[in-house]
Amino acid sequence: MAEPRDGPSVLIVGAGLAGVACGLALDAAGFRVRLVDKGRAPGGRLATSATGGSPSGMGQDAPWRFDHGAQYVTARDDDFRQALDRLVAGGSAARWDGRFLTLRPDGTAPEADPPPRYVGVPGMTQIPGQLAFDLDLALEAEMPPPDRMADGGWDLGAYGAADLFLVTAPAAQARDLLAAAPDLAARTDAARFAPCIAAMVGFQGGIDLPAAGFFVEDPDGVLAWVGVNGGKPGRPSGTTCLTLHGTAEWSAAHLDTDKDVAKHALLRRFRALAGDALGLDLPGTPAYFAAHRWRHARAVSFAAACFDEGADAGFAGDWAPPDGRGAGRAEDAWRGGRALARAVIAARG
Ligand SMILES: Cc1cc2nc3c(=O)[nH]c(=O)nc-3n(C[C@H](O)[C@H](O)[C@H](O)COP(=O)(O)OP(=O)(O)OC[C@H]3O[C@@H](n4cnc5c(N)ncnc54)[C@H](O)[C@@H]3O)c2cc1C
Repeated sequence: MAEPRDGPSVLIVGAGLAGVACGLALDAAGFRVRLVDKGRAPGGRLATSATGGSPSGMGQDAPWRFDHGAQYVTARDDDFRQALDRLVAGGSAARWDGRFLTLRPDGTAPEADPPPRYVGVPGMTQIPGQLAFDLDLALEAEMPPPDRMADGGWDLGAYGAADLFLVTAPAAQARDLLAAAPDLAARTDAARFAPCIAAMVGFQGGIDLPAAGFFVEDPDGVLAWVGVNGGKPGRPSGTTCLTLHGTAEWSAAHLDTDKDVAKHALLRRFRALAGDALGLDLPGTPAYFAAHRWRHARAVSFAAACFDEGADAGFAGDWAPPDGRGAGRAEDAWRGGRALARAVIAARG
């Protein structure tokens, strides 16, 4: 039987990669960790949308499966790579060695020096979901900004109380959640995000596309990325599931456009580019067609992961990696979560 823990209690807001990375390290160090996330599944922007399939199949056999947030993860540091290697060994993640091309109206170009890429199996959500498996995690649990208690620690309302309050929500939400620790909250201001509108386009049957992913150089500035989900390991066959991402600029200009209008604009653009560059006529009306609006998609400027001992609180995320140095990638979220945990352990472990 597991030993009862007597370390400080910690509530972590967010079960994306940063919250999970932080929670795992604190749990291993004997802290009493609880994660809360407002989503229906852990993962945040490592998100998978699955529709159809047998009711008992829990979406595993869904014919329409899209990773509509992050398309893959990379791991430049050993710590994250080791975590991914364990998932690969257990079948919850896999290397994605698919061919990537740059797509321009006048043709395509191969990728020069691809990094090793990993995906969750059967979807990106599986990466944080499997890592968080043994953590105490409450889903569909939206944390309102909590109060500090006079004698230290945090009054978390419906979520009880905790010695420490750690936030891994995107920067603007983190700022609101840390309102009772204003000096700490102000340190989130350095971070900024770019939005992304994603379209999920499903066709029956296969389409003969020459790559699994296209980095788009679009002179019209509409389309940034096309991902062929079926090209990833462990995805359904018999359908073609495409994820189209708008550029940051186009997405910002269309954030308040009806999602159904925006998704048509993205598909129209891919049809035109596929025709011009690949000589490919995409089929007519998609069998599955949806859109998702990411208001806080990719961090473009950064704060530094931080634990404020006086406030019993801290934050991390892809927008708050160690030393404020990142590129808005999932691996930065992992590194940020680990850095926050190290700071907490150094102060309270
Ligand atoms: C369209 C898109 C494409 C991307 N492509 C890539 C890619 O190919 N490769 C790559 O490496 N990275 C990519 N990224 C970035 C990557 O997804 C992120 O860097 C990473 O997932 C961030 O993890 P995080 O834990 O910092 O934040 P998140 O994943 O955003 O997690 C924060 C969590 O906090 C929760 N939350 C917020 N407020 C509250 C609250 N009040 N109460 C409870 N819960 C709350 C949210 O529900 C969320 O689950 C992409 C992102 C997007 C959106």
